[in-house]
Amino acid sequence: MSLKAFRGAFLDFIDDPFYVSEAESVRYFADGLLVLEDGKVKALGAYDSLQESYADIPVITYPDMLIMPGLIDTHIHFPQTEMIASYGEQLLEWLSKYTFPTEGKFKDKAYAQEIASFFLDELLKHGTTTALVFAAVYPESVDAFFEEASRRHLRMIAGKVLMDRNAPAFLVDTPETAYTESKQLIQKWHKHDRLLYAITPRFAVTSSDKQLQLAGQLLAEFPDVYMHTHLSENVKEVALVAELFPDSDGYLDVYDRAGLVGDKSVFAHGVQLTDAEFQRLSKARSAIAFCPTSNLFLGSGLFKLKQAKSVEYPVKVGFGTDVGGGTSFSMLQTSSEAYKVTQLRGQKLSAFQALFLATLGGAKALSLEETLGNFDPGKEADFIVVNPRATPLMARRNPTPIADSLEALADQMFATMILGDDRAIHATYIMGELAHGQSGVV
Ligand SMILES: [Zn+2]
Repeated sequence: MSLKAFRGAFLDFIDDPFYVSEAESVRYFADGLLVLEDGKVKALGAYDSLQESYADIPVITYPDMLIMPGLIDTHIHFPQTEMIASYGEQLLEWLSKYTFPTEGKFKDKAYAQEIASFFLDELLKHGTTTALVFAAVYPESVDAFFEEASRRHLRMIAGKVLMDRNAPAFLVDTPETAYTESKQLIQKWHKHDRLLYAITPRFAVTSSDKQLQLAGQLLAEFPDVYMHTHLSENVKEVALVAELFPDSDGYLDVYDRAGLVGDKSVFAHGVQLTDAEFQRLSKARSAIAFCPTSNLFLGSGLFKLKQAKSVEYPVKVGFGTDVGGGTSFSMLQTSSEAYKVTQLRGQKLSAFQALFLATLGGAKALSLEETLGNFDPGKEADFIVVNPRATPLMARRNPTPIADSLEALADQMFATMILGDDRAIHATYIMGELAHGQSGVV
């Protein structure tokens, strides 16, 4: 049994601030103590109330810092790391011009390993401790990713991309190879260490109906694996799906008919969803990955967050960076762009709502809320140390290091998400062990 503790200010969520008040959903200790046992949370409370019970264990103190659960990215592509910020196209042309040629390189396992390693280091540097990740079509790319994630002892979800049409020949599989290769990868990696598998059709445009049907069959065989795909991102894409599947009753229905819409299904984007599709996702308990930097960068549109988080038909929502369609690995920058998307819709997104989506909300979207997402006892201790005064500008905007009320904290965290990026992530811990630290952190 190995006990240790961290002292500092702590912020996490115990409920959803879209549906209950901040007083009921936000947990905050200006001077708190987090006690860990074997990499899991044993206790969190005010320092004064816990300190006596744990007087003899080592304590790491972070004065003037805020400790939060690790950030969760519910949609990202590791093979697109090196093509981030590619100019001038919308979704379908952007895929042909930049994405497909880049993903073709990932048949080379050594190359995939090098990029996976860089990618995971970037995630940790930005405070992201769990992500739902597209690999490439090649099983080697999945092996490379999971090997690197396993080496870092990370809780990651990923899968081989399925695509059997409307893509270059070097990048397509078949319905049968997609099925058998995915099955082998599930048997090899799902629940190995902290890793989990997602059956990953790229999107309806690049999968034949037969491939989607077989993917649905595989999901039925392994009901505790995930299903991860794209949905209703861009107007031209939605029109193309209607052309390719003339018998379907809309985009989501294409997946639904294949048995791919369930409570472990995560759909990226959903920018163009109809009311009926929102209702269907709510009923199926599926999740949407809201990817604001990507939706703005590719000119896809403004996600209807308020509709997704409605009282009548609530849909689980997490944030996705969608690198390389997205423009940053940072969940703070993603929160900042999400705020601007809601502003363009005449709505608001509070700092607490955004940080909920980036932590416990993301965990719920990935059905991991029993495992991580806040500091409840028994949860895996993946967490970050945030410096709200990381740059001269942030220090000027946040003159008081530790907020003394929820109102002051809301203001401080709003400025931190609007101005912050990887510089604000002072340290990242995985299962209670330091995995990334800015210079000076030991
Ligand atoms: Zn994507």
